[in-house]
Amino acid sequence: MIDLRSDTVTLPSDEMRDAARDADVGDDVYGEDPTVNDLETQAAEVLGMEAALFVPSGTMGNQIAARTHTERGQELLCEEESHIYKWEVAGLAQHAEVQPRIIAGDDRGVITPEQVRQGYVETDLHRPGTGLLTLENTHNSKGGTAISPAAITAAADTAHDLDVPVHLDGARLFNAAAALETPVADIVEPVDSVMCCLSKGLGAPVGSILAGSAEFIEAATRVRKLFGGGMRQAGLIAAPGLCALENRNRLAEDNERAERLAAALDNIAGLTAHEPETNIVLIETDTPAAAFLDACEDEGVRGVPFDDHVVRFCTHWDIDDGDIETAVDAVERAVA
Ligand SMILES: *Cc1c(COP(=O)(O)O)cnc(C)c1O
Repeated sequence: MIDLRSDTVTLPSDEMRDAARDADVGDDVYGEDPTVNDLETQAAEVLGMEAALFVPSGTMGNQIAARTHTERGQELLCEEESHIYKWEVAGLAQHAEVQPRIIAGDDRGVITPEQVRQGYVETDLHRPGTGLLTLENTHNSKGGTAISPAAITAAADTAHDLDVPVHLDGARLFNAAAALETPVADIVEPVDSVMCCLSKGLGAPVGSILAGSAEFIEAATRVRKLFGGGMRQAGLIAAPGLCALENRNRLAEDNERAERLAAALDNIAGLTAHEPETNIVLIETDTPAAAFLDACEDEGVRGVPFDDHVVRFCTHWDIDDGDIETAVDAVERAVA
């Protein structure tokens, strides 16, 4: 079975399993796990941020950021299709206790400085005030679009002019960096905090990183405890995370394979591929997405439905060039 449902389905490499077994560990709630400390230091360095925090998932990282930056009852500005708004079980309402104000981005998920200004709400007797702007890169629901540093800077600078901090959901930030041929630190330079997943394209079994100023991370550590994310001998999962960070320069390969997959699938009658910018391939199907995916599964390929007539395939660590060819042949049979 060629599993293209998500880049989260990867299995840990032997190197990661060895690293987990051999890791030096301690109680991380006391700050005494050397492997976690090492991961946080290295991640902060790669991201060009003062400090970083190891969290169990991307969702928790985003929600900790929203809670830490805002006060209860404020508004949070975010893009309509963004993960933090759409796919986190209304965590903004339940954990961060903020009211999202959504902005419809363009077809790539980009929001303009003008939209940020329009969405901003001042604090007064009747209005809650805007506490945070969140951005997403790559933008998952828009098909893994790699948002340019210029677009991030334009939106973030506008928010800062209004005294509103900015959080970047960079679950697939390293895929964006590969596509943009720009160091991650340059992409996140204009934002106040960033979350990136170790467990997606980077291939770790568990965990994400939240990074920002030392003061922000100190406050975020307390919120992580509040949310039940304080972990003990977490070096066992941080060690594969360190291996994952080393994989960061490999992601251009996933992006290239996605491009080849999209081009080949686009040649099949009944399918229209969006041109991928990173490792996510969106395919429009003449037949209903569910029926198409059932047929694909019978031929040995898995994807996920994204809409009634749209499916998503994702390239990752466990997919090589041969798998792409095999997958294309299988989809061809499925459509026939
Ligand atoms: C996957 C994803 C997340 C959440 O990460 P989990 O580790 O699955 O909780 C957040 N934002 C985006 C854009 C994602 O794709």
